Parts: sequence; structure tokens; C-alpha cells
Amino acid sequence: MGALHRTGLEMGVLATLLAISGLLFAGPMKRVVAIILGSKPDADFQWAPLGRRAADFLWEVVCQAKVIRERPLAGLAHAFVFWGFCAFSVVTINHIGLGFGVRWIDPREGVWGPAYYAVAALFAGAVAFSISVLAVRRFVLRPKWLGEQLSLGSGLVALLILILMGTYLAEYRLRLEPASGAGRLVWWMHTAALLIFLPVIVRTKHLHLLLAPVTIFLSRGGFSRIPPLVGEEDFGLVTGADSTRLVALQAFSCVECGRCQEHCPAYNTGKILNPKEIALGLRSYFKAHGAGSEEPLLGEYLSEEAIFQCTTCGACEYQCPVGIEHLPLLVGLRRGAVNTGQWEDAHGGELFLRLERNGNPLGMSALERDKFIKRAELPLYDGTQEYLLWLGCMGAYDPAGRESLLALTRVMRYLGVSWGVLKKEKCTGDAARRLGNDLVFQQLAEFNIGQLQAVRARKLISICPHCVRTIGEDWKQAGASFEIEHHSVFLARHDAKLPAPGTRERTVYHDPCYLGRYLETYDEPRAVVAGAAELIEVARRRERSFCCGAGGGLAFLGEEKGTRVSRERAVELAATEAGTVAAACPFCHTMLRDGLAAVRPLNAPQIVDIAQLAAARLPRTPGARNDDSK
Ligand code: SF4
Ligand code: SF4
Repeated sequence: MGALHRTGLEMGVLATLLAISGLLFAGPMKRVVAIILGSKPDADFQWAPLGRRAADFLWEVVCQAKVIRERPLAGLAHAFVFWGFCAFSVVTINHIGLGFGVRWIDPREGVWGPAYYAVAALFAGAVAFSISVLAVRRFVLRPKWLGEQLSLGSGLVALLILILMGTYLAEYRLRLEPASGAGRLVWWMHTAALLIFLPVIVRTKHLHLLLAPVTIFLSRGGFSRIPPLVGEEDFGLVTGADSTRLVALQAFSCVECGRCQEHCPAYNTGKILNPKEIALGLRSYFKAHGAGSEEPLLGEYLSEEAIFQCTTCGACEYQCPVGIEHLPLLVGLRRGAVNTGQWEDAHGGELFLRLERNGNPLGMSALERDKFIKRAELPLYDGTQEYLLWLGCMGAYDPAGRESLLALTRVMRYLGVSWGVLKKEKCTGDAARRLGNDLVFQQLAEFNIGQLQAVRARKLISICPHCVRTIGEDWKQAGASFEIEHHSVFLARHDAKLPAPGTRERTVYHDPCYLGRYLETYDEPRAVVAGAAELIEVARRRERSFCCGAGGGLAFLGEEKGTRVSRERAVELAATEAGTVAAACPFCHTMLRDGLAAVRPLNAPQIVDIAQLAAARLPRTPGARNDDSK
């Protein structure tokens, strides 16, 4: 440690400026922290598993993997700025120490000091280049995801970072002596930029620099984890008093990058929903009302119409680089509106009635299901078979869904796998759950759980990813969950046992949101398609797949505003010029069939389920029936 000459006046000025900067930072920061900590604790929060939290932190914060993966060029530029900040933390402490005549690390003596400062110089160059690229993108290229208005805060932060890097490099490269006139001038310029930087970040979206690492570490993990309601008085997110600490923390962490907006099917087909504005609207609410307010959340800052336009596709949550969990938030707001009876929607009301009265969203009599089981000679599950084949509402009532289901039964029979169906089965409650009707969801889940427990079901299989997700995950909050497999996984596992196909049609596969992003099942359905056909890929696929528009209960809510989401997706699929579109979800199947017919009225590609592709490989059995669906 070496002492350097600094006048008492210089030290006094520095101490005063540091205090002012610190106070200007602490005021707003204290308010943000007070709002977060003043919000309700998250009832379902638990620190475990710490290993998962540490791994997420390492991957998403330290490695900046998500930031880079989804937008490689801009992401890498952001990552270099972040890594530069980390590298400069030691340099900054040393720099301020110098102002008080103390130097902990000498960049010209020993081994470690020069080595560290040399590495920091490399980072300084990378950061200066990266921030210039980002500034050109934001202020010259101006992608619409970053917002219509030019952000002065971002411009100021870019300028400050350039000054910080420029002064560091000047001091380092020119080997300026701290006590010299030039050395002092550059030192003060660097210091001034630092002192301005601190109050600026807390007043702008750059607050994410401090909050995002915490948000990522504390996130619920998994995907679309809808928290349980706690007690009789919990109706979801009705007022600010219902907001939890995670909700508040996430609202203040948004970096306004617009990745969620860029991938949102609702926003991109002309709806008013914009997931970025949901996060920012919540932030504005907190800024206006603080924590624990009794003011309704839906109104001035958050639109009821917008939250009911969400298909719960999860593209926003998947894309967000700072750990914002949009789905618990959106479903929480829907719960607040539905559970308190505020949401008035004719289609929604009718849907809930159908679910309560008929036990399915299509409003069909359960007798129709009984007749179908009898006609198709589906055996009842008696506890001895390997699989309980879950029909689901589409498999039980919808003609196309029935065809997919029967195709699966033909394959299972061919393979010699035993299975049976439930005598009585109702909707899993998927649509009720995503639309925020907890009472109906609970009733449906409890009925089904009772039926499954009565026959001692062990392993379920389903053609519907919504059923798989709801039974496997959401039912946990209703008291039970069961091992359930999507048929794509089963079919892929048995693919080698099926005969080779005769011809291989060009077939494009559409990733359903609830199979892909929700269940992370991408390769298995592709293996099934590739086993039967020539697999074609569409531009937006796998994690970036574009929704069909049916999720979140929207299949039952009547006409959409703007362009239909299914039509937008059908255009992309038709553009591949594949003769067949393969679906792995009965909702996608229905939506895309209509979308494709609208896009190509004369020559629409045929749409089939992957089970039908697998079944087409089987030898034709005399008298085999393909019309059981009616
Ligand atoms: S879940 Fe999908 S539809 Fe809903 S806001 Fe997010 S991206 Fe948009
Ligand atoms: S919510 Fe996430 S993805 Fe959307 S703008 Fe904010 S930080 Fe970006």
C-alpha cells in the first residue's frame, strides 16, 4: 500500500461529492427497497434448492447466457458491458482510494497490479466498443422493441460509460502520474462520471444492474409457476396489498429490452396486450401508490382487456433476461378479476358454466363420451393395465381429437402395450386455471383426482400437452399429481419397433407452447415425424415457436381483435411449402386447421397429429375402422 499526495481541500471536496452522490442514490433506492420489502411475503417461497438458484445465477448472471442466446450480437455487447463492470469494481475502489491519498493496488509495481490493470484495459476497450454499438442500435437503428421514445437516460448512461472507459485507458496508456496536472484532470473526470452514474442508475431502467441478479437468484424457477392462494381471503392480485415481494422486485427489474414484446403473439397480431407494458405498468402503480395500497391494480396502469388477451404461451417469460415471471403475474391479475366477479365477459361466463355443468369446455353431454368409448371399444382402466389413457376433452368430444386419440390406441395395440380409460373423466381445469377461476379449477381437479385414485391409476398418457401440464403440475395445488406422459415421448421411445413408412411426405412440425416451452419436449415429436416423413422446419420453432392462439382459455373466448394468431402461424407454416403440417396438441390441430384453410383456401396443407403419422406406418388390418371419431 503506498501513500500519494492529495491536498486536504481535494479530499474534502471528494468526500462532499461522494456524500451528495450517495444521498442522491440512497433516497430513491430506499423507496424501491421499501416497496419491495413492504409488499406481502411470497407464501410459497423457499430457498431450496440452493444449488438450482446458484446454477441459474452462474448461467444467467455471470455467464449472461440467456442475454447472449436470444439476441447474439446485442446480447454479447451487453455481456461485455456487464463483465466490464465486474472487472472494474476493483479498479473503482482503488481509484476512489487514490483520492484520499491511498493506493491499494499499484498498476506499475509487482506482478498482480500490472496484470490486473492490463486485463481491465482490455475490458475497457471491449466495453467502449460494445456501448458504442448499443448506442448506435438504440439511437440510429431504433428497433421498435426498444420503444417509440428515445431514452435520454440511456443516452446519458452510454456517455458516462464512454467517459469512464476513455479516462481509464488514457490514464493507463499514457502512464499518467496521479500527482501530475494531467493525471489529476483525468482522475477528476473519471470520478465525476462515477459520481453522476450512481444517482442516474437508480432513477432509470439501469436499476436492473443492481436488481436483476437478485431477481434471477430469487425467481420461483421452473416455468409459469402459479403460486397457491393462501386462505379464504386470497383472490389473487386484486390490489397492491395483494402484491408480493417477488412481484414488486420483478416490476422494478425490467430493463425495457422489449424481448417479451418482440415474441408476444398477442402484441404481434394487433392486440393491446404488451407484456413489457405489464411489467412497466406495475412499476408505475408501485411508484404512484407505494406498497400495500388498496387501489385496484387493474385500471390506470394495467388493462383488464389486455390481460385477457394473453394465450399464456410463455414466450415472454422464456425470453426475459432478468427473471421476470410474466405468467404468474398475468394469471394472478386474471384471478383477481375473476375470483372477485369483476370480469364480465359473455364467452368467459358461458365457458365457466359449461365447465361446471357439463365438465368440459365444449358443453357436450358426458353421454357423448360414454358413446364414443363404447363405439370405439376402448377398454376401461381396471388397475392392471400399464397405462391409463387420459382422453381429455378434445380426445373425448372433438372429432379431430378423437382421430388422434384412436391413432394412438392403434399404435399402442400394435406394440402390445396395455391401457384403459377412465369411466368418468372431466376437464383437467386447464382453461379455468389459466383464466383465473380457482373455484372451478379446484372442483374439476378434485373430481378427477377422486376418479384416478379410485382406480389406483399409476401412469397416465395423453395426446394433449395442456392436460399433461395441468395434471402433472397444477393439480399439485389441488392435493395430488400423477405421473403423466405426452404421447410424443411414448411414440419416440417405441419408434424403432414400428415398420418403416412407405412414402415420406414433406411434413413441417409445429411446436405447441405447452409441449415445448412448458414441458421442454422438442426432440421427441420431431423423432416421431422424422420416423414417418421428411421433417421440415419452420423459421420460428422450438423455444421460439409461435403460438396457435388457443392457450389460456382463449380457444373459448370468441373472436379475436386484430389478426387471428392462428392465421399468423398458418402463414409461416404454409410458407414452408410442406404438404403436411404435424401437430402434437389437439388445440393446435384445430386452430391451425382453420388458419391454414383461411390462408390457402384452395390448396391448404393437410394437418395431422403425430400419432396419425405413427399409425400410418402400421400394416393395414382388415376391417380396421378409422371412422370411430364420429
Ligand atoms: S404469455 Fe404469450 S401471449 Fe401472454 S403476454 Fe406472454 S408472450 Fe404474450
Ligand atoms: S419484461 Fe423482461 S423481456 Fe420484457 S422488456 Fe422487461 S426485461 Fe425485457
